[in-house]
Amino acid sequence: MYDIIIIGAGITGSFIAHDLSKKKCSVLVIDRDADVGNGATMANSAIVHAGYDPKPGTLKAKLNVRGNRMYPDICRELGVTYKNCSAFVVATDSEESEVLDRLAGQAADRNIEYKDLDGNAARDLEPNLSGAVIRALEFPTTGIIYPWNVAIALMEEAVINGTELRLNEEVTDIDCVSQSNSDAFYRVKTTAGSYEGRYVINAAGVYADKVYSMALKKESDFKITPRRGEYYVLDEMAKPVVSRVIYPVPGPNGKGVLVVPTIHNNVLLGPNSLPIEDKEANCNTSEALSYVKSAVSKTVENIPFDKVIRVFAGLRPSGDAGDFVIKESDELKGFVNVACIESPGLASAPAISEYVINEVMKEAFSFADKEEYIRRKPIVYMNELGDEAKNEMIKQNPAYGDIVCRCCQVSRGEIEDAINRPVGATTVKGVKKRVGPGLGRCQGGFCEPLVVDILAKELGKDKAEIRYDSPKSVILMEETKKGAL
Ligand SMILES: Cc1cc2nc3c(=O)[nH]c(=O)nc-3n(C[C@H](O)[C@H](O)[C@H](O)COP(=O)(O)OP(=O)(O)OC[C@H]3O[C@@H](n4cnc5c(N)ncnc54)[C@H](O)[C@@H]3O)c2cc1C
Repeated sequence: MYDIIIIGAGITGSFIAHDLSKKKCSVLVIDRDADVGNGATMANSAIVHAGYDPKPGTLKAKLNVRGNRMYPDICRELGVTYKNCSAFVVATDSEESEVLDRLAGQAADRNIEYKDLDGNAARDLEPNLSGAVIRALEFPTTGIIYPWNVAIALMEEAVINGTELRLNEEVTDIDCVSQSNSDAFYRVKTTAGSYEGRYVINAAGVYADKVYSMALKKESDFKITPRRGEYYVLDEMAKPVVSRVIYPVPGPNGKGVLVVPTIHNNVLLGPNSLPIEDKEANCNTSEALSYVKSAVSKTVENIPFDKVIRVFAGLRPSGDAGDFVIKESDELKGFVNVACIESPGLASAPAISEYVINEVMKEAFSFADKEEYIRRKPIVYMNELGDEAKNEMIKQNPAYGDIVCRCCQVSRGEIEDAINRPVGATTVKGVKKRVGPGLGRCQGGFCEPLVVDILAKELGKDKAEIRYDSPKSVILMEETKKGAL
C-alpha cells in the first residue's frame, strides 16, 4: 500500500513527486510512456513566462507568477540550466497598443517588472524586430529552460530519495475501495499490474479527463480537448535573429505565434493553436506550418527559413473551464485532479506542486520532513568545459574523448553516463533528451547508429531490441546478412 500514487510523469507529476520525496511518505509514479516528460512537457515553447497575461483571479495567474519566481533557485539546486533571457510583447497598431496597456496594468498589479519601449528603442535592443512594431513591453523576468531536462532531474532526485517509478505502464482502470471508512484506498490497474494507494494524484495531461472517469465510473466533469501547436526549429547558426522571446499581443487563442531563443542556441518559431479531438494527433501539417511562417514574419524580419532543421508538434491539455483544474474530487475523497494544465503549465509547475501539497491537500499530506535529503549529481556536459577540465575528464575516462555526436560534440562517456544514471535513458530519444546527441544540424543522421550500439552494450540487449522511443518505434528490424562470411 503506497501513501500516494501519481499518474503521469510530465513536469506536473515530476514536480509533485520530487517535492513529496522530501517527506516521510511512500510514493509511486506511473507513466504509460517510455520516459519521463514525453507528453506536453516534451513539445512546447520552453518559456517560463513572467505571468502578466493570465486572466485576473485565475489559478493560472496566481501560479504562473509564483512559478516564475521559484524557477531560478530550483534549477540551480537541481543543476539544470535556467536562462533569464527576457521578452518583448510587441504591438503593430493602436488596437494592439491598447492590449499592451492592459498587460502593463496586470503586470503592475502582480508586481511583475516591465519596461515600456517605443518601436525604435525596442529595435535598438532587437535589431531584427519588424519595422511595423510601434511599441513593446519588455518583461525581463521571462526565462527559458529545457523542460524535459528539468522533469528528468526532478524525477532522478525523487527516485534517489525513495520514490518508485514505473514507466511503460498505462493506467487502465481505478477502483475506489470503501469510501465510507478511514481505511479507504484506491486500486490502480495498469497494463502490467495493480497497485494500491491511499491517495491518487491525476497528472495525466491530455488524458486526465479519461483517468478521472476511470475512478468516477462516469463522465468526468471536465473535458480536455487538446489544442495542437506546431513549430519550426532553426539551426544554431540562426541564433542572432533574436536574443529575447518575441510575443505578439495575446488573443483569444492564447499567446500567439512566437520567436523563441532556446537553451541550446537554436531558435523556435511557433506555435499555432488548433483544437482537435484526437489525443494522439501530435503531427505536423503544411497548413499550420505556413501559418506559423506568415505569423512570425509580422513581428520579426530576416528570419533564415533556410536554416530549419526540424518541425514538431505538441498537444496542450486544454480544459473547457479555461483555467487549471487543481482540486480534490468532490465525489472521491483522496483523489486529486491536477488537470487541464495547458500553458502556462510549465512556468507554473513548481507552484502547482506547492499548491497541491500545502493548500489543496494540506491536512492529508502533513507527512513529516525527512531528516536527510540526497541531491542528484548534475550531468557534466563536455562541450561546456574548458580545455583543462576536459583533459582532466578524459584522463579519468578516455570515453569522454571519444566524440559520438559531431554536431553537438557529445562523447561516448556522456552517453554511457546518461544510460547508467538513476532514471537512466533506455531509448535513443532518452539519450538525446539527457545529453543531446541528435539535437544538432544532422538530427542524428551520423550518430544515431552509434547511440544504438552504446545503448545495446550498456543495457545488455540486442541492437534490434533498441527503440527510438515507444515500443513501436523500431530502428533495426533484423540482421540483413545472416550467415554471410
Ligand atoms: C505547443 C505548446 C506550447 C507550450 N508552451 C508553453 C510555454 O512556453 N510555457 C509554459 O509554461 N507552458 C507551455 N505549454 C504548456 C505545458 O507544456 C504544459 O502545461 C505542461 O507540459 C503540462 O505538463 P503535465 O505534466 O501536466 O502533462 P504531460 O507532460 O502531458 O504529462 C502527462 C503524462 O501522463 C501520462 N499519462 C497519460 N495517460 C496515462 C495513463 N492512462 N497511464 C499512465 N500515464 C498516463 C503521459 O504519458 C504523460 O507523460 C505549452 C504546451 C504546448 C502543447
